[in-house]
Order: sequence, then structure tokens, then C-alpha cells
Amino acid sequence: MNCCQLEKDIATKSELMKNYDIVKEYDPQPKNKDGSIRWFLYRWDDGKNGVRRLARCKHCGCVFLIQAYRLNKFSEYADVQFEDWYPIGSEIEADYANQNYTGLQWELEHRPVLQCKDEAVVCLG
Ligand SMILES: [Zn+2]
Repeated sequence: MNCCQLEKDIATKSELMKNYDIVKEYDPQPKNKDGSIRWFLYRWDDGKNGVRRLARCKHCGCVFLIQAYRLNKFSEYADVQFEDWYPIGSEIEADYANQNYTGLQWELEHRPVLQCKDEAVVCLG
């Protein structure tokens, strides 16, 4: 059991981020061997808002893969910066996920435990 499961009272992202370090930000445009862009994290995104990060809890050391994105311009939430927090076993697993899954592929197979909508934090776990 890690302490992160107990953070259901945290209501704002700034409060949440006091407990985490961002240890890594992945290239939002992973490249093929020939240098061409393999994908944008989300296909409607040009790579500016769609990005993955790795966060580590300052207290227990457990890690989360964060997928940050904006929805496409036709969504009523187009102006909201979303962050979905996925529990992940290790940095190595996160690196693997980053190389093998687009944002949507990852979403379809995994469940986030937290979601930030701009400053608001919603606990889903
Ligand atoms: Zn923790």
C-alpha cells in the first residue's frame, strides 16, 4: 500500500504537486529511426498540449504516468487542460508505454486513478 492511494482530499493541482516530482517529460512526438514523427500523443493534437510525464511521489517513491492533453476544438472542453494519472510499476514500464502506445491506445487499456481538469483534481480510484 502506498500513500498515494490516500490522497482523496486533495482538491487542487498545486496542492497535489507538492507531493510529486516530475522526473521525466517524454518527447510528445516520438520519432521513427529515419527521424520522421511516429505519432502525436493524440492524433488531433499537434504535440503542443499532448504530452506524457512521469511523476514520482516524494513520500513513498511510487510512480505515475501522466497523459496531459486538450480535447479537440469541437469539444465543449476544448479549453481545458486535462491530465490523466495512471499508476505504473516503474520508470522502465513507463518508457515502454511511451514507445509502444499512443495516448488513445493507452487510455483504452488502462484506468487513471486521478484526473486534473486545469486546477481541479478529481479522484477516480
Ligand atoms: Zn506516495
